[in-house]
This record gives sequence, structure tokens and C-alpha cells, in this order.
Amino acid sequence: MAIVTLTPEEARALGCLMEKAVTTPDNYPMSLNAVVTACNQTTNREPIVSYNESVVETALDTLREKALIRRVKSTGQRVIKYRHVAEEALVLDRPESTLLGVLLLRGAQTPGELKQRTERWHSFRSLADVEDALARLATAELVVRLERRPGQKESRWTQLLAPVETAEQPARDWAPREGSDDRPRSDAEHHSEAAPVHGADREPEPVSQPHSLEVRNPATGEVVRSVAITEPGEVALKVARARHAQPAWAARPYGERAGALRAFRTLLEQEAEECAQITTSEVGKPIRQSRNEIRAVLERIDWNIEHAGRVVEPREVTTSDSLAERITYEPVGVVAHISAWNYPYFVGLNSIVPALLVGNAVCYKPSEHATLTGLRLVDLLHRSGVPVDGVHAIVGAGPTGAALVEADVDMVCFTGSHATGRRVAAAAADRLARVQLELGGKDAAYVCDDVSIDDAAMAIAEGAFYNTGQSCSATERVYVHEAIWDAFNAALVEAVSAYTVGDPTDAATDIGPLARSEQLDVLEAQLADAVRRGGKILCGGDRIDRPGNWFAPTIVIDAADDAAIMRDESFGPVIGVSKVSDDADALAHMDGTEYGLGASVFTPDRARAQRLLAGLDVGNAYWNTADRSCVRLPWSGRRNSGLGTSMSESGVRAFVREKAWHLFP
Ligand code: NAD
Repeated sequence: MAIVTLTPEEARALGCLMEKAVTTPDNYPMSLNAVVTACNQTTNREPIVSYNESVVETALDTLREKALIRRVKSTGQRVIKYRHVAEEALVLDRPESTLLGVLLLRGAQTPGELKQRTERWHSFRSLADVEDALARLATAELVVRLERRPGQKESRWTQLLAPVETAEQPARDWAPREGSDDRPRSDAEHHSEAAPVHGADREPEPVSQPHSLEVRNPATGEVVRSVAITEPGEVALKVARARHAQPAWAARPYGERAGALRAFRTLLEQEAEECAQITTSEVGKPIRQSRNEIRAVLERIDWNIEHAGRVVEPREVTTSDSLAERITYEPVGVVAHISAWNYPYFVGLNSIVPALLVGNAVCYKPSEHATLTGLRLVDLLHRSGVPVDGVHAIVGAGPTGAALVEADVDMVCFTGSHATGRRVAAAAADRLARVQLELGGKDAAYVCDDVSIDDAAMAIAEGAFYNTGQSCSATERVYVHEAIWDAFNAALVEAVSAYTVGDPTDAATDIGPLARSEQLDVLEAQLADAVRRGGKILCGGDRIDRPGNWFAPTIVIDAADDAAIMRDESFGPVIGVSKVSDDADALAHMDGTEYGLGASVFTPDRARAQRLLAGLDVGNAYWNTADRSCVRLPWSGRRNSGLGTSMSESGVRAFVREKAWHLFP
């Protein structure tokens, strides 16, 4: 429901004013870009792309007419440059400018929502803070329409304020400040000076974005909790706060930052069981696997703490009497991390930990399917000594992620599907923000004729069905040498049939529900397509009929090469198996998709495996194993599987910029 609808020029002028205002001695460094980005998002009109003083002056005139900056008019000052206007008209402190941000950038709240949201806004610890800031803004005539005038029919602005007063506090007397020309105004005076904002005489418009996110338990379909979404304007402000906090965090000695991350590691270990329960409740991950993930991520944190400082130490590459050449490493700045849900600890902390260690600030949007886990991680980080503005949680689904990419961030680390990754890269390209993408996969395994069949079947089943098949590097296709075709399929069916499917909170469970209900349709469609293209289902093949998102572990053989199940990511407990005649045939099939994350070869012959794996266009090569990652090794996908590298020394360097020094004494 629109209360304020600003034209681009008005928004631009207010952006100027805000920027000026927030670089007063309080020095809250909301960059103009952040304001403008946020205004662009809010106004939903032609984007503001450039500044031109005459345009700004025109806009200021409009704003004066609306009494938003009436003090300028009252001094009779001719506006020459917007800077003069700002100096004359406004000196806002941080809560005021934040509130102004709230009013402008959200610009479309019901009174109750405004109250609720300003209360959870960092700068406002209490309703009294909000009222105080409103009072000062009113005194500065910036929100003069917030004044309460006896007998006046409520305008949108007064609607904004009224519930704040009536809910918990008596009506406020908006007394002018000593020496100011502020005074309560008559209705007539008010109407003549303060033209209604655009749309003020219209009925409220429906809000298109939901304001909260329902976290559901995928095992039951029940709502676990409802969490407030970070609105686009709030995203921009959080990024601005992160930008402000980052230099001080980067200026701390490495030991201090490492100390905070070490404290975080300790807290995570202490609260591991509670964290595992949270993850299982919202992702549906079998509890044993949630616990394993946390245990394993502790080692990754340790590795990063031990090595990140060394990796970014300055390097002298030439030292002589006449020349010195050196390389130094500086943090990238503000890193946005947009996460997938399937391994929320691995995926989140693979970026957050090294990024913070080398001095970046992080704005972290956990997946909407792992929000509670993400919020807990940020809470632990704050409790461990990482500054509140050093790491921010951004809550929401796709639109919130898009707002984060478009905010004033220096780097976007994205983990998710190829389709979303492309959108993220395109949006970030506009500002040439650095991008790292960890995307989907369609990993293939080749089972040679000389294997121990049972061992290979067990390992491949594990690689395919761990985490209910929802791993980017899950084995999704198997190519089996024709010499062992029947025996291998029988062993695979036996291995898969031994899995316990059921309640993810039970430690005996191997396979739980799918995290996303939509994926059930994807799997169903892939199986129908596979059967149409010659596939035979050896086990499973259907949803499991119970509340929640359940699909039976499924093996399909003989589906044609162009069947979706042999080509597109399945991301569920489903595997396709095909026969090949020899190594060359296997190689041709394994590289036959658009993905290039990982591939595995099962044979006792190391040389044969190495030769085959060396010929594949993948980032991860597995011999007699699959679906493995390790912090000591780089993690990267090729082609549609991603861009850039995480983990290992490369994953630390991903978060710094190099500076080359050419020094002639
Ligand atoms: P997804 O693409 O649906 O969502 C990923 C994240 O992007 C979520 O946080 C989502 O809210 C956000 N998002 C959605 N639209 C956006 C937009 N327009 N702009 C910015 N952000 C947006 O993927 P998912 O279902 O969360 O994750 C599953 C996918 O992730 C699979 O394809 C899997 O293979 C991949 N994955 C890859 C790796 C890897 O290391 N390569 C690791 C884990 C998962």
C-alpha cells in the first residue's frame, strides 16, 4: 500500500540530501549509490542512473513544494547546488537518517508494519527511539506531514504515525525546537504548503511481496516458524552498514579476526546438537548427516584459521638495490553470499569464514529452505566477536537474493542452480562485481570390468543417495562395463534396498524427505520421460504417500542418452544406469552433459583411472569414491557447473584483491 511514491528526480534529490545528511560528523557512510539503488528498487520507475545539477534543482523545487524540504524555502535561499541545500536544510543523525531510509525505501507500509519493522531495525532499540527520531525529523520539517493536527482527517503520513502513538504511548506533542521557525500548522496552511504525495488520495494498493517466510518441515509439511523477510530497502541499508564496518574489521590484526572465528568454531561445536536439529527440521536432512556435516565443517574452519593469514601475507618477488617488486592482498570489501540449502554449513561457511578472516564484511542470504540454520550461524558469529555490521543475515527467497546482488556489494558468491546462477551473473555484470558461482552437476561414474562389484555398488549408492541425493556432486549417472552389467545392477539394487527411509530425526534413517516440494514433480517428469525413452525402473519410481515431500529411492536402467534423467540434474534419490562397451565408450558418455563438476572411475587399476579422469572436463576427479569434497583441495565446477574456486588456498585468495608494487629506490 503506497504511502510515498517518489518520481526518480525526487528520489534522486532525497538521495542527495540523505547522502549529505549522513556524512555529517556522525558519519554514517550511506553511499549515494546505495541510496540510489534502493530508491530505484522502491520507486519502480525509470531508474536513476546519473546526476545532473539542474535536474536535482528541479527536483528540489518539487520537494519544496511538497514541504519535504520547506526550510530551504523559508530561508529564502536560492538553490545553486544541492550541497548548499543539504547544509542548510538538514543535519540528520544516524537514527534519523535510518528512519528516513525506512520511510523512503520501504515507502509502502501499513502503520502497524512500520512500527513492527522499525522496532527490529538495528538503530532502533525501542519505540521511544522511533518516536524521538520522528520528532526530530518533524522538527527538521522533513516529515512535516507527520504532525498531528487537531481535527485533521488522517493523511497517509499521519496514518503512519498514529498507531505508534496509540499503541503504547500517549499522543506526542510535536513541539518545535527553541529558535526554529517550526510551529504547529493550521489545516489550511498545511494543505497549501504540503501538496499530497502521489497516490495519497488513492486506496491502498496490494503489497506484491510477502513480508514473512514460512519455514516448513519437509518431513511433515508443517510450519516450523515464520521469519520476517529483509525488505529490498533494508537489504541496501544492511549492505551500507557492512561497508561502513568493513575497514575497521580489516584493520584488526589477523590474530584478532582469527580469534573471533575460533570462538565461533567453539560455539558451533558446543551447540552442534541444537544446530543439527534445526537443520533437520527445516531441510529434512537425516539427523546423522546433519551431525556429520557440522563435525566436518569444524575441520574446515580450523584449516582456514590456520592457513588464511599465510595465504594473504605480502610477498616480495624481487629485491635488489635498484628494484623491489612485491604483491600485497587487500580484502574485496563487502561480499554477498547467496546460499543453497542442501549443505548449509559447508556452503555458507566455505565463503563466510575465509571472507571474514581476510578482512571482508559479509551479507549472507541463506536459502529460504535453510533460513533458521543461516540465522543461527550469524547469531553464533556475532556472539563470537564478529561485529554486528561485519556479517549480516538477509532473509528471503529469490527477490531478496536479487536485491542483494543489485545492492552495493563488491562480490557475489552464489551457490545454487545453473538457471539462477546465470541470472545472478548477468545482474552482477552490470556493476562488474566479482562473481563466484557454484552450480549444479550431473556427475557420472564409470564402473570398469575389473572391479570388486559389491564394493563399487556400495560406494556408488552412497555417492548417489547420501543427503537423499540432494548433493551437487551426487552420482546421478552410472556407466557400467558390459562384462559386469547384470551383476552390478543386482548389487546396486541390493545396496539401495538396504537403506532405511523415514523420519529424519531418527539416527537410523539414511534417506529422508526432499527439501523442496517442487522437486517431486521434476523427478516424476524425469522418470516418465525415461520410461518413454526405453528406461526400466529396477526399484522405487514413485512418491511415497505420506505428508511431506517423499520420494522412494529409484534406479532406472537403459534410458536413452537424451533422456532427461541422463542429461539434466535430478537432485533427488534417483539414479540412471547405462551399459558401455569399453573405456572409450564410457569417456564419450561421461562428458556428454553441459555440467562439469565431478566424475568417478571405479577400478583397482590406478593408471587406468588416472588416464580416464585426466581426459574429462570436470573440476573434481574421483578414483574409487564419489561425492567428496575436502578443504585442502580446490572446489570448482566447469561449464554449467560454475565459475571460480572455493576451499583450499585458491578459495582464500578468492576474497582478496592483489596489488602489484613497482618500487624504484
Ligand atoms: P536455487 O538456484 O533455487 O537457489 C539458490 C539461492 O539463490 C537461494 O538462496 C535463492 O533464494 C536464491 N535466488 C533465487 N533466485 C535468485 C535471484 N534471481 N537472484 C539472486 N538470488 C536468487 O538453488 P537451490 O535449490 O537452493 O540449490 C540447489 C542447487 O544448488 C542445485 O543445482 C545444486 O547442484 C546446487 N549446489 C551446488 C553446489 C556446488 O558446490 N557446486 C553446492 C550446493 C548446491
